Amino acid sequence: MPVQITILLYIIIFLYGIVIGSFLNVCIYRIPEKESIMPRSHCMNCGATLHWYDMFPVFSYIILRGRCRNCGAKISKQYPLIEALNGILYVIVFMANGININSVLYCLMTSVLIVLTMIDERTFEIPLCLNITLAVIGVVMCVIDRQDIISHLVGMVCVSLVLFIIYFLSGGQAIGGGDVKLMAAAGLILGWKLIILAFLLACILGSVIHLIRMKVSGAKHILAMGPYLSLGIFIAALWGNGMIDWYVNILCR
Ligand SMILES: [Zn+2]
Repeated sequence: MPVQITILLYIIIFLYGIVIGSFLNVCIYRIPEKESIMPRSHCMNCGATLHWYDMFPVFSYIILRGRCRNCGAKISKQYPLIEALNGILYVIVFMANGININSVLYCLMTSVLIVLTMIDERTFEIPLCLNITLAVIGVVMCVIDRQDIISHLVGMVCVSLVLFIIYFLSGGQAIGGGDVKLMAAAGLILGWKLIILAFLLACILGSVIHLIRMKVSGAKHILAMGPYLSLGIFIAALWGNGMIDWYVNILCR
């Protein structure tokens, strides 16, 4: 493909990413409050309904200099950051995984993981609707990847079953039920090899990053696992096969 077309394609993917990113902001704020995600966006301060030209992701925030057009109240930086993050991650997914249907599913998965991370970080709960969405993506993945369906079905239980036993034995103290369901749904998407890798990555990243956060900012001692599991799932989905090949090569040398 000519370079210009590739660049244009990535720009389009980025724009899709930031538009969906603005929907993710709505989900992040409204799902924990059990509000409908459908009504039009409004200013958190004065309640004024936003015009279509004030709702363009990232760019509207910059043009309005981060303030409501009606009342001048500051708009949280989280809005443009989540939008930009979703756009950038979409581009990374397509760059790492190629332009194919798998990448579309990985993008949707990434968006759900962003919402899940933000909500779990704040409320220490993973809403069931997010895990169900991931499971639906997993079913679609199974249909596309029919010849490897066993790997996906084993992936659904191989990590989640172990976590469920820990959950059961500890009476939900050691790990949350939402984390168990997350690993089941993500395992269906990734297959058994990648979900095991995702879990290992999450444990390593979780312990290192959480220790640093506790030292630096005095973050709470309670550990929300969802964000680290999400990060592990994302990395394993995009680079897991390469990492496993690299490791097997070292072992066989
Ligand atoms: Zn306002």
